[in-house]
Amino acid sequence: MNKNTIFVTGAKGQLGRTLEYYWEDSELARSSELFLYDIDRLDLAQGDVVEQELNRCKPRTILNMAAYTSVDHAEADKQTAFSINASAVDNLADWASRNDCFLVHISTDFVFDGSKRAPYLPEDHASPLNVYGASKFAGETALQSRLHDQYVIIRTSWLYSEYGKNFVKTMLHLMKEKDELGVVSDQIGSPTSTHSLISLLLTILSERTDRGIYHWTDGASISWYEFALAIQREAVELGLLGKEISIKPLTTEEYPVPALRPAYSVLDRNKTLNAFEVKATDWQQELRLVIKRIADGA
Ligand code: NDP
Repeated sequence: MNKNTIFVTGAKGQLGRTLEYYWEDSELARSSELFLYDIDRLDLAQGDVVEQELNRCKPRTILNMAAYTSVDHAEADKQTAFSINASAVDNLADWASRNDCFLVHISTDFVFDGSKRAPYLPEDHASPLNVYGASKFAGETALQSRLHDQYVIIRTSWLYSEYGKNFVKTMLHLMKEKDELGVVSDQIGSPTSTHSLISLLLTILSERTDRGIYHWTDGASISWYEFALAIQREAVELGLLGKEISIKPLTTEEYPVPALRPAYSVLDRNKTLNAFEVKATDWQQELRLVIKRIADGA
């Protein structure tokens, strides 16, 4: 049997490595084959080379998880951020539109400015505050103008895992090294484990549902400070940290960084829960799972 090919970008990122972890045991692996790419194998900024590789591979689906994700560096490196997060997405969508290919693309809560004080719906007005958010929003709009159906955009937020760089791993490192820590308490959002997002993506790839923007998180509405407290609590309970340190709440002004962040970016995931065969995840259970995997040396 000829297997369907899925062209995966960002394979060595934290989401990509989580996909690889689950792939062999997934239902989808029986009918589909993954072609895994990251920047060392295929630089998405090189449009001609990407086109050649797509023509060679002829995927039925593209799963675009690659991105320029360094939110603060993007402020001084606008051109690179837009080349990966917008132009490269436009190229993938262009190829998909000419080749009857389904495109699944990952986007971010940072397309919103945080002025709303209730969870953001997929159709809410986007108005990014920083270069990263603007580049990701440009990618969304380019994709939508190329593909009228056959695409899904999943916006997610505060992504973390046992892989790569993320807030959970940074906090665990600092909590081991320091006696006290300050964490921003006036930005509210929802952490999302790559495990829960990959579970949703595997479902979407199986169902190849029609076009649209969907939101996915682990259902919290908390500050970075509250997230840090929860990380410490779980890590002490699971024996990853020997003791608790003092964690102090900080205002955004007390922790200056190059990129502005929305004060509120909780995403409403109800449309996703109604559209796909997935269950609502619980952020504390997801956090426990990831910290346990870090403790087990995954
Ligand atoms: P990572 O940064 O862990 O992975 C992204 C991958 O893309 C990296 O392996 C990176 O390589 C690769 N990449 C960067 N530039 C290029 C390029 N020019 N050509 C090919 N590959 C490239 O990201 P995540 O797994 O955390 O994020 C996955 C998706 O989720 C992204 O679309 C991101 O925008 C989105 N997202 C992430 C959030 C988060 O908190 N991390 C929150 C909301 C959305 P290298 O590392 O060598 O640069």
